[in-house]
This record gives sequence, structure tokens and C-alpha cells, in this order.
Amino acid sequence: MCRKKFWILLLLVIGIGLAHGQSRRIINIPDISGYKTLKCDFHIHTVFSDGTVWPTVRINEAWEEGLDAISITDHIEYRPHSTDVVADHNRSYEIAVPLARQKNILLVKGAEITRSMPPGHLNALFIKNANLLDRDDVFDAIKEARDQGAFLIWNHPGWKAQQPDSTLWWPEHSNLLANGLLHGIEVYNSNEYYPEALEWANEKKLTMFANTDVHGPMNVEEGQHRPMTLVFAKSRTEGGIKEALFNRRTLAYFDNTLVGQSALLEPVFFASLEYDKAPLRIANGINKVVYLRNNSDLDYELELVQPGVGFDAPERLTLKAHHVTPLSLSGNSDEIGSTREINLYYTVKNMFTGPVDNLIVTFTFKNLP
Ligand SMILES: [Zn+2]
Ligand SMILES: [Zn+2]
Repeated sequence: MCRKKFWILLLLVIGIGLAHGQSRRIINIPDISGYKTLKCDFHIHTVFSDGTVWPTVRINEAWEEGLDAISITDHIEYRPHSTDVVADHNRSYEIAVPLARQKNILLVKGAEITRSMPPGHLNALFIKNANLLDRDDVFDAIKEARDQGAFLIWNHPGWKAQQPDSTLWWPEHSNLLANGLLHGIEVYNSNEYYPEALEWANEKKLTMFANTDVHGPMNVEEGQHRPMTLVFAKSRTEGGIKEALFNRRTLAYFDNTLVGQSALLEPVFFASLEYDKAPLRIANGINKVVYLRNNSDLDYELELVQPGVGFDAPERLTLKAHHVTPLSLSGNSDEIGSTREINLYYTVKNMFTGPVDNLIVTFTFKNLP
């Protein structure tokens, strides 16, 4: 079959797939004050590097899975299909962009600078011309990306193929950081979590990411979701995403876990919940139940930090996604009768601010006699 016929056939197959009514799932993670919570995946491959799918498939997958934005980040230096797929480094983006516009998926132009460690693999997002990143010297490639206004992410920093003994930060990364050539880091890639990267992100003020690095077709089971980066953007635009990334407003979301800064985790937690905030009337021997409704997709696993003064509260509580959970409080001494403010301190076991640190939340209620 000649090449032209092959591509026409391929597009036809994709077209037939589109004609079958697909539906878009809704990811329930709330917006927070002042920001839209965008669901994003900034590390994706296609046949234009070592992936096995056509760029438009990535747009359809993102739409079906409820994402707001993706970046196709084909390898600059590694293109095993290049005898069959003859094109320059901008082509995968150009093919995907019309469908992205049609489906209202924000498509960030990107590429993966793919070198041995150090410095390893880096994604360059918001680039203008990927062909110019094809340079002999890796630092020339990174500088070129930066000169195009790119946001640069160190990918899979603990990938065993490149860091077999331990996950190390190399002097080359300090050099990149010092020269404004490194802005973010993947704390999660595909199915690997790198707690070291979370620590570095906190120490060195890097933006955190969870990305799929998907090469084959996405295969998300019902009730599951792909690893993703939540971006807290002032607007649902590419510019909104860029501003948020450079200002570190992201959380890494994988499985039932959220990782990032408490300044973002806490508002997400409370925006997920609805409950009656009216004053309680607890006294010795008097019980009160507050019904916590969790509208998000996360099951929040709570553990009491310290016992209440004058009242009993559950030591452990799971606020199941899309369920209402009773929080039962009961007065156990006369002291509670004269307490006007009740504070409940819980750690959220599936929200991490550091490798071994969980978010601590405070529920505050007024208490009336
Ligand atoms: Zn890579
Ligand atoms: Zn990759």
C-alpha cells in the first residue's frame, strides 16, 4: 500500500471510531477560591516518537477521560518509527491541534529532550518550534527551549534504567536550576512514585507533576483515573496554565492520593465537603452528629491528631467519595458545657505535603450552651 493510501485508511478508521458516540466522564475535584482546577497530563507519546498511537487518539482519550489539557511530548532524540513515520518534530502537535480545538481540549506544545543521566529526560512545554531542540549538546537544547519561553520539567527522576542504585540529584541539575533552566519535576510517572522528588520540589521550589508518559493506548478501567497533574489556573486557557505552572500551583493526583503544598491541598479538601456549620450544642453526656458530604472523587482517610478536650470524636474516619459520613461528637465532661469553640484536628492520610508528612486539617465549630 502506498503511504498516502495508508494514511487515508488510518484516518478513516479513526473517523469511524469518532462516529460511535463516546461520552466524557466527569472528574470531581472542586475548584478553589480564585482558581479553576484543571485536570492535565503533560507527558504523552505518539507514533511520532516511540508511541503506538496517532496524535488525534490522544485528544479523544483526554476528552473521554474528562481532562482539560494535555501535552504531546514526543522524544526529540529517539524516533524508532522514523522510517515509516517521516515527519519533523512539530508534526504530532500540528495533527492533533484541530481536533483539540474542536473538542475544547487545551493542547500545550511540547517535546521530550531525551538524554542519558545526567541530566536525563526533560519535557519542554509551551515551545514554539520543536525542531530547534534537536541539538548535539543537551544544554544547548535546554537553553533553546528556555529561549522559546518553555517550562522545563525533569521527568521520571527515579527511573531505575537511569538511576539504578538510588534516586540522585546531580550537580548538573543544580546547574540547570541556578540558570533558570529547570522549573518542575515529576513526583509521579506512569506507575512510579518518587518521594525524593517531592522533597526536592519543596526544598528547591519546583512545580510538582504526575503524568502518564503513556506510549500505548490509554487503558483506564471504570471507576479509575489516569495519573494527572491538577493545575489551579486563573482561567481555562493555555496562558492560564502557563502562569499557574510558573507559580507552582499544582498537585499530583494518582490512585487515591494527592501530593503537594498544604496551601492547595487544604482548600481542595474543604471545597470537597458540604456540612452544616451551625453552632453545636454539646454538653456532658450530649451527643451531636455532623453529616459530612464528600462531593469529590477522593475517599479522604482521616486520623485524629489529638483527643478532644471535653468531648469524644472518632479516631478514624473515611469520608467516602460521593457519600455522606456521620461525624459523631459527644461531651464527656462538664468542661465542654462552657467551651465556646470546638476544634477537631485530623491528618488526611492520603494527602501528602512531604515524603512522610500528611496534611492536617481543622474542623472548627461554635458551641452554644
Ligand atoms: Zn522519558
Ligand atoms: Zn516520555
